[in-house]
Amino acid sequence: MSAQTIGDLFGFDDILDADEREIRDTVRRFGDERLRPHVGEWFENAHLPVRELASELGELGLFGMHLTGYGCAGMSATTYGLACQELEAVDSGLRSFVSVQGSLAMFAIHAFGSDEQKDEWLPKMSAGQAIGCFGLTEADYGSNPGGMRTNAKHDGDDWVLNGSKMWITNGSVADVAVIWARTDLDEGARGIRGFVVPTDTPGFSAPEIKRKLSLRASVTSELVLEDVRLPASAMLPGVTGLKGPLSCLNEARFGIVFGSLGAARDCLETAISYAADREVFDKPLSAYQLTQAKLADMALELGKGQLLAVHLGRIKDRGEIRPEQISTGKLNNVRESIQIARECRTILGANGITLEYPIIRHINNLESVLTYEGTSEMHQLTVGKALTGRDAFR
Ligand SMILES: Cc1cc2nc3c(=O)[nH]c(=O)nc-3n(C[C@H](O)[C@H](O)[C@H](O)COP(=O)(O)OP(=O)(O)OC[C@H]3O[C@@H](n4cnc5c(N)ncnc54)[C@H](O)[C@@H]3O)c2cc1C
Repeated sequence: MSAQTIGDLFGFDDILDADEREIRDTVRRFGDERLRPHVGEWFENAHLPVRELASELGELGLFGMHLTGYGCAGMSATTYGLACQELEAVDSGLRSFVSVQGSLAMFAIHAFGSDEQKDEWLPKMSAGQAIGCFGLTEADYGSNPGGMRTNAKHDGDDWVLNGSKMWITNGSVADVAVIWARTDLDEGARGIRGFVVPTDTPGFSAPEIKRKLSLRASVTSELVLEDVRLPASAMLPGVTGLKGPLSCLNEARFGIVFGSLGAARDCLETAISYAADREVFDKPLSAYQLTQAKLADMALELGKGQLLAVHLGRIKDRGEIRPEQISTGKLNNVRESIQIARECRTILGANGITLEYPIIRHINNLESVLTYEGTSEMHQLTVGKALTGRDAFR
């Protein structure tokens, strides 16, 4: 009997329309031809050719692809998710690049910016001619960003920003940073506002964080703001308080619900093909029941995760998705993806630990994906609160 793909087994194509399938296949081809041949080297050398890739990804319409106007592709959320999945099947770092640009930096400006801010930044960002980053997390305030210390003070008509941000994707290569800062220490999180900060503003610097063993094909940085003086027009006028950054994070988390499964799929496809070629005790590894049990269980989790992702995509496309539903998807799909990746590694034995195969790279990347955009524990607390009506964050 000839073997089926995982997609065939679940009939994934049946739950997508023709446009969705076409875009998914286009991004998959781009990933396989343009990115996959180099990604092991980018990861090993911790160097991503960011500018070059930005214009190619921009040309493909992948930046802010679910936003409308300003050169954005105006696609559905489900289509955006499928594109994230194909990018993450190559490497989570590439999906992170697109998520941060489109769902965090561009979304913040698109949803909350003034017309001038939108006109200035969004066309360049959708084309990949300007790169954005999103500065929320601080060294002491990750899961609890409401405690942030970065502040913005009025000086005449200007704002003056001081503070620092940590673990910021694209920070050192960005042209523009969306920075969240407290405008009034007495008001607490209610006084948090967003600022659009050109990174060549005096007082802004972004040293890169080195020695990461995860997301090495992605730039991660500290942002330092020392008396960064901005005009009044730099503030995002459309939102006050933590709901600004949190609504951007919901956009990016949605992409991860799909994206993480791309990494898991790549691991599972690698393991299936390896098990077919690898002979142990005189026959292929794939012919043993223990191996088949592992493969079947992993395929089930991947398939269930995919059905959940598309289901959430349909709800989001109707404009009805709630944050706790996105938390459910992120929690399940990232957690299952990292389990699948680890189980696939066992099938490759020692070969599973080298960069000759993608699996150890995906495992290491997924460690970051489990933590950023809300840790698994934060999503458990969100789902727990939805189920019980009780807030257990504090
Ligand atoms: C590669 C990478 C890229 C990133 N990119 C960005 C970016 O572009 N922009 C940005 O703003 N941030 C970014 N982040 C930061 C990321 O969002 C934070 O790391 C994340 O929110 C967790 O914060 P923390 O690391 O400070 O962990 P902490 O908040 O210190 O958490 C440590 C542990 O404590 C647990 N914990 C915390 N609170 C509770 C509680 N109430 N109950 C039980 N357990 C709890 C957590 O779940 C976790 O397991 C990035 C992180 C990484 C690793």
